Amino acid sequence: MIGVSACLLGIPCRYDGKSKVERSVLQLFLRGIELFPVCPESWGGLSSPRPPAEIVGGDGKAVWRGNARVLDRTGKDLTAFFIRGAQRVLKVSRALHVSGFILKERSPSCGVNFIYDGTFSGKVKRGSGVLAYILRENGYKVISELEINRICEILGDIYV
Ligand code: SF4
Repeated sequence: MIGVSACLLGIPCRYDGKSKVERSVLQLFLRGIELFPVCPESWGGLSSPRPPAEIVGGDGKAVWRGNARVLDRTGKDLTAFFIRGAQRVLKVSRALHVSGFILKERSPSCGVNFIYDGTFSGKVKRGSGVLAYILRENGYKVISELEINRICEILGDIYV
């Protein structure tokens, strides 16, 4: 079973109340691969729609170390919601023996290689989101929807 950012599967859990369907990910489902939708921001207690949020002062790693915060556009501190959601995804994924993850690039939770830079200007910077970082720290393979060509790195654990 592969964990997938729920918005990539058509679940309208994004800040704007919409989804971000990724056809290449849906094709995995059509090939019979079990996909497990996760949305750390919803699981942390945030509703949809909601004001957009970005990591200010660092990346996901810095958030876990207490050196950066997740703020929404109004300045509200959402750090505790993001951490709680990521912890829940980690706990459930362990219980379900999830093999790896495909997560939405650039999200402050799910971003794998890039996240928005904390200025709410649309600019991105290198770094992982709060969930992607803690999953990697716990040994999970994590790729973004833009790296679907690397899916064998996850599927190899399932279909050996
Ligand atoms: Fe999608 Fe992840 Fe944002 Fe949820 S937290 S809406 S799954 S990118």
